[in-house]
Amino acid sequence: MGKKSNNRNTDSRQYYSGVNRSSKLSVMKVVARLLVLLAFVGVCVPALRADAYDAKPKLVVILVFDQFRGDYLDRYRADFKAKNGWNLFLNQGAHFTDCYYNYANLVTAAGHSTIGTGAYTDGHGIPLNEWYELGPGGKLRQVSSVEDDRYRLVGAPAGTKDLTGASPHREMATTLGDELVLATGGQARVYGVSMKDRAAILTSGHATRGAFWIDHETGTWETSTYWMTKLPAWAATSNESGRAAQARKESGAATGSFYENVGRAAASVSYQLDFAKALITGEELGQNPAGVTDMITISISSTDINGHAFGPDDPSQKALIVQSDALLDDFFGFLDKTIGLNNVMVAMTGDHGVATTQKSAEAAGMPALDFPPELITKPLEERLEAKYPLKGKGRYVLQMDNPYLLLNRQAFEAAGVSEEEAENTAKKMVMDIFASNMQESGKMQENDTPGTQRQMDPVAITHIYTTLQMREGALPDTQYGRLLANSYSPYVGWALHINFAPYQFPWRGMGTTHFTANSYDRHVPLELFGAAFVPGTYHGLVAPVDIAATFASLLRINRPSAAVGRVLNEAMRQEKAGSTGPN
Ligand SMILES: [Zn+2]
Repeated sequence: MGKKSNNRNTDSRQYYSGVNRSSKLSVMKVVARLLVLLAFVGVCVPALRADAYDAKPKLVVILVFDQFRGDYLDRYRADFKAKNGWNLFLNQGAHFTDCYYNYANLVTAAGHSTIGTGAYTDGHGIPLNEWYELGPGGKLRQVSSVEDDRYRLVGAPAGTKDLTGASPHREMATTLGDELVLATGGQARVYGVSMKDRAAILTSGHATRGAFWIDHETGTWETSTYWMTKLPAWAATSNESGRAAQARKESGAATGSFYENVGRAAASVSYQLDFAKALITGEELGQNPAGVTDMITISISSTDINGHAFGPDDPSQKALIVQSDALLDDFFGFLDKTIGLNNVMVAMTGDHGVATTQKSAEAAGMPALDFPPELITKPLEERLEAKYPLKGKGRYVLQMDNPYLLLNRQAFEAAGVSEEEAENTAKKMVMDIFASNMQESGKMQENDTPGTQRQMDPVAITHIYTTLQMREGALPDTQYGRLLANSYSPYVGWALHINFAPYQFPWRGMGTTHFTANSYDRHVPLELFGAAFVPGTYHGLVAPVDIAATFASLLRINRPSAAVGRVLNEAMRQEKAGSTGPN
């Protein structure tokens, strides 16, 4: 790790360190305005330098809201009343209006891994939330992106049947947190928190001291023996405090799955933030005895749970986002009290956007349609079986796991069919199925909207590629080709990658989903807060992978192993000469 220096250049923060906090904040505001003004007139100003070796900042917070589309903050801005809620970013931070993921598999596990590693799926390997792999005895099994049967759950409620643990072992790149720990010789303390295991684990990374998520049924916080053999006292206390019961009461969901029923309410946002507060207090994050930067990743699952059920335009989703304003204000107020907001660097983003529901899109005049995945998988299985008879021994189509149609390699191999032939045959069959089912899907649409004058179009596939094409880079030199190249992962196996026309997708049940390369799924917020940034609204394309690149640059550490992001220099304060980082 870097040597601590006793004669650091005095910077603004040290200069004001003796002033009490409230006046310090207002003084900082004046200084910030002055700096913006000076930068504007082209005068070189002293730096508010960051570096991890000298605990500048003392704490890095990566805040993710799950399924949070890039238009929400501006859309609901008039309803944000708190000073340090969403306005911490909008009024005091760098607010980017055009942040888009540059890949084509917009799902939660991949998105969180992308935020953490600053790389896309071709870099970190995480393509989906679940996929298939060969288990013991060569038996095909479905696995989650983080499950790991070498470890056991810790803190799970008594009577939990499946105690299979979790770890980041499938994530094939380092995270910003990993690099922070490595750069400080293991002294930086990095943690991850979310209601979802994958969101807690993949964002924070491998060299972390802990990742915590909830038991879906009860809301109990748990972890895995990858990190520890028993919960820290503060976490056990949180579980025993009656906080889950309080969240149930606040949400009005007295019974049933905590994740599904409480999880969609604002009560679950404060439930997660309160646990993060307990962690920060319990582990004394931001007060590192070695004088280095600590880090926490927090992913709020609530917006995803409610968004899937009701869609982005439902009043309940707006209410959840507006209610989160006061809850964030409380959380950042806590950070101000314990660490000082001056000493905190925050990035906020989403792991993916989401599609307008079929109902809302149709009402707006779009040819929208969600349809059962069996519309593809059933006729495909029948056609493959007719061509390569398995005679009841297995099946060729594993699942439509959006955006992938997963094929059963073992079945094809048993029938003596190569990957190239299997994928190309399946691809042609899917295209034929769509051509012949056009009438049928068009009819479904009409029946769904009685009285509509507009003739509904059939479902359309915009792009379909085999994973062999993706693996070998046999993709067009177009934006879509590049998005797809970024989506390659060996974990997917034999498969097709399918993108549909806007607001048309396989989906079951009410609400909506996300996964496509269409812009509404790729658009997320990017908000930066901290002494290193010049507050303002920034237009122009940026990407969530830029967070890791930017923070690594400011912290003077290596960027994560597969990082591809750009340093967002346009939003940084200019640093003074001689500020070259640690010795
Ligand atoms: Zn998600």
